[in-house]
Amino acid sequence: MNTIYTAPISKLTELNNLFIELTAKNCNQRCKHCYIDFPLTKTVKDFISIDVIKEALNDTANENLECIYLMGAEPMTHPDFNTILRLCLKRCSVCIFTNGSFINEKKARFLKKVEGESNYEIIFKLSIDHYNEIKNDDIRGRGSYRQVLHAIKSLIKYDFNPILCITDYYQEGKETLLKEFKQICQKIGFEAKDNNFKINNWYNKNQPTEINSTNWKSLDCENGRILTTKGIYTCPFLANDHRGRSGSKFTDFSRKNAIETNYCATCIENQEALFGINFDLYKD
Ligand code: SF4
Repeated sequence: MNTIYTAPISKLTELNNLFIELTAKNCNQRCKHCYIDFPLTKTVKDFISIDVIKEALNDTANENLECIYLMGAEPMTHPDFNTILRLCLKRCSVCIFTNGSFINEKKARFLKKVEGESNYEIIFKLSIDHYNEIKNDDIRGRGSYRQVLHAIKSLIKYDFNPILCITDYYQEGKETLLKEFKQICQKIGFEAKDNNFKINNWYNKNQPTEINSTNWKSLDCENGRILTTKGIYTCPFLANDHRGRSGSKFTDFSRKNAIETNYCATCIENQEALFGINFDLYKD
């Protein structure tokens, strides 16, 4: 009997999340678990232009955007970061995915002022991967633990409510990580709740996994798309990857995609969307 394999299909129900890749390769860190294939140099200048972002905002004027996510590599290395942030805040809330190394008290104060000029909120997703400084810095680079704790302290001083993004690199389980991280937060004066943590399984690019289930609660490709310098893609994992290509512009892009890559297997294993914020939980 001939059996033809067909991959499950995901449909974009609503474009609520607009991810924007401000740079694909520019980052001051080189984390062990990062899914980005970095060049040897840290001086790549592959920044997206403001005009491309303006065009995307224009083309999505009739979509029900809830949040714009500024991401990278490290989005805060973009030379026009502040202008882009202000531009996006005219439309809806903005979430910044960052390693926190560019956030100090002065920057937090400035960002609070920028937020105050708009009707929307700035949300931070800060990357930290282990509650133990040595283990964290082994994954993310020397000094990164102290930098991110300093960023958290600076942000809470100005009444921001950051989300800590943790990749379970050592496969310790969400409960253990949550307990340990809450203690760290308490020590630095941050009364973090469960919704201040987003713990994801590690996507190991050297160890391909198979899709062995079609059961998931939510996927990023069901509510969002990512804009890059090369066009529109299904999700941040598949940014600039031909398998995630949705189109070149928001005036004409595909709202369906096949669930067929190793990345998709990680999403399904993780159950909940890896990148988009679940606002029902965040607001609790
Ligand atoms: S990697 Fe995840 S979000 Fe991206 S297309 Fe696959 S299932 Fe969807």
